Amino acid sequence: MSTPLLIDTGRSPRGWSRIGQFMKCPQRYAYSDVLGIELIPGPALIRGTMGHLMQAHQHARWGAAQGGCWAGDTWVEDPDELLDPYQAIDEYCKLHPRAMSYLGDMVTTFDKYMEQYPEPLGRVLGVEYLVQAHVGTSQGEYVFWVEGSEKPADFEPCTVPYINRQGQLVGRPMSITRRIDLLTEKRGRTWIWDHKHQASVALGRSKDGYTMDGGFGVFRIMGQQLFGSSFGGVYLNLVQRLDPWKVVQVAVPPTPWRDKHLPWMIAEAEERLATLEPRDPWQWPKAQSETVCVGRYGACKALNLCRFGQRGLETMK
Ligand code: SF4
Repeated sequence: MSTPLLIDTGRSPRGWSRIGQFMKCPQRYAYSDVLGIELIPGPALIRGTMGHLMQAHQHARWGAAQGGCWAGDTWVEDPDELLDPYQAIDEYCKLHPRAMSYLGDMVTTFDKYMEQYPEPLGRVLGVEYLVQAHVGTSQGEYVFWVEGSEKPADFEPCTVPYINRQGQLVGRPMSITRRIDLLTEKRGRTWIWDHKHQASVALGRSKDGYTMDGGFGVFRIMGQQLFGSSFGGVYLNLVQRLDPWKVVQVAVPPTPWRDKHLPWMIAEAEERLATLEPRDPWQWPKAQSETVCVGRYGACKALNLCRFGQRGLETMK
């Protein structure tokens, strides 16, 4: 038998975290995606990745036992084709030794989750399921076309023409991707789930925040196109990792007005990004906002780069 699979829970290639980060702070995007500076994730993000990994392996093993499911881009029908959640998190810690100090904490959180939800949340169709959408126009409006759904007859793909730093005029097709944490089917409806691991779950704030998060708008458009009238919606699986552990599962309210112009906003951001490409990556526009520069996960890791320029690199070693 081949080596059991470790599921990839990393960023999707052209995901919301890429263009959403650019929208929030172009300079931060330039540090990480143009200059390749590793903006080391803080503990909350490492814990989140570990939590995702355990959830992904558990649900994929359930899905395999239910008749098969997608684990990333691999179809699995035998749970033993996959590492179990504990093996998966051990493997992750070997690859990312910094994660080791959070291992006990995240295993306890997972065990508490399993005490509350020992059964799958429906028929598991996929985990970490990658969806790609092309941005273009149809009937004079910006739209997405999700691969695997019916393409509008007059769909015209958008391409960003830009001059790269070598002075060449090149074109880049516009697309947006999302990796769906969990896809389930229950009573004839298909649901997109997103896992969030938080120190303490504050339901109202989380629900409102994720409602307006563009990544959830992209999920909804993708779900509507892929599953049509059988699409149920987007659900949050909020897992509190501190005592008293708890899990809150809540539907993300729809945002029809915002969703209508979300494809345009993404196209507009991609065009703006393209105009910045030839610029010195240390001099891209900076958010300079108290709440953006110091957010939920603490201070932006690039704070000293914005304060001191390249000298700030010394403080990141
Ligand atoms: S410190 Fe603020 S302005 Fe600088 S990269 Fe981070 S978010 Fe952007």
